[in-house]
Amino acid sequence: MHHKLIIIGSGPAGYTAAIYAGRANLAPTLLEGMQPGGQLTITTLVENYPGFSEGIDANELMDQMRQQAENFGCTFLPNECVRCDLSQRPYHLWLDDESELTCDALVIATGAAAKYLGLDDEKKYQGQGVSACATCDGFFYRKKTVAVVGGGDTACEEANYLSTLASKVYLIVRKNHLRASQIMQDRVLNNPKIEVLFETNTLGLFGEQGVEGAHLVHRMGEADEHRYDLAIDGFFLAIGHKPNSERFLPWVQIDELGYIKTEGNSPRTGLPGVYAAGDVADPHYRQAVIAAASGAKAAMEAEKYLNSI
Ligand code: NDP
Repeated sequence: MHHKLIIIGSGPAGYTAAIYAGRANLAPTLLEGMQPGGQLTITTLVENYPGFSEGIDANELMDQMRQQAENFGCTFLPNECVRCDLSQRPYHLWLDDESELTCDALVIATGAAAKYLGLDDEKKYQGQGVSACATCDGFFYRKKTVAVVGGGDTACEEANYLSTLASKVYLIVRKNHLRASQIMQDRVLNNPKIEVLFETNTLGLFGEQGVEGAHLVHRMGEADEHRYDLAIDGFFLAIGHKPNSERFLPWVQIDELGYIKTEGNSPRTGLPGVYAAGDVADPHYRQAVIAAASGAKAAMEAEKYLNSI
């Protein structure tokens, strides 16, 4: 089936592109994928999206964006795009139900997925004590002991959130300092339930029935290294994200980290009518408001392009 404009992704970038494109009478079709609402729905309160002085629940924010897009005529499909051919227009997309769609313009807003350390034990205990989403799984660790890996804003946010549920939270940080913004660092360092383990790496996990602890090493690779075991019930990864760009190769260009390259400050990918918006093309900011803005830009570019062909 042919569509004028397809938007892939249902985070702030995808929904905002749909709002702008719908309002421009482009009747966009949006592929929502496995996680409607995108990465934002795995956080709790969004405190820094303008317009909500008391903050807003992340799911509510995304529901509102979706409704706004629907009001302007966007059609939603619950599918994932698994493969594409962007060699010429019309562009071809294949979905997870094996159906095929074509389009004249495409907005890629597929976001980024959580990274893991690469330990075999992460796979072994996935869903049995290992998680990359505190908001999704924190509930299971009420009054228990957990560890969060990472020293960025995500890790600090997750550690703070978990401290409202768990009795004790360890933050495992590989360097001797946190990379997070000052306000997040302060919240972590002043939280009596959180203990930061600086210069510490994880070698593995252990447990008979799910995670019961982690094998840690202080200062891996240095002479004064110390290995020890830490008893924990849950192990949360918060070490960054990997952009969901693979399925658009080799048609779009990516940088060394996998983020889709765009032209200057625009969402243009270099392929006519194909745009990349949000975290899939943003190695720096990864903020809902910035993703939303880039979605708006992509829709405006798509409108101009569709009017010109
Ligand atoms: P970052 O890339 O900022 O931080 C990743 C952290 O994980 C770093 O401390 C890094 O260590 C550590 N890390 C990476 N790989 C490993 C590894 N293999 N072993 C151990 N530690 C590892 O990612 P975030 O997801 O925290 O944040 C991404 C962006 O989103 C940032 O710009 C951030 O500001 C923003 N953000 C903003 C929020 C807010 O404003 N409320 C909330 C969440 C994110 P090292 O420092 O040594 O490299």
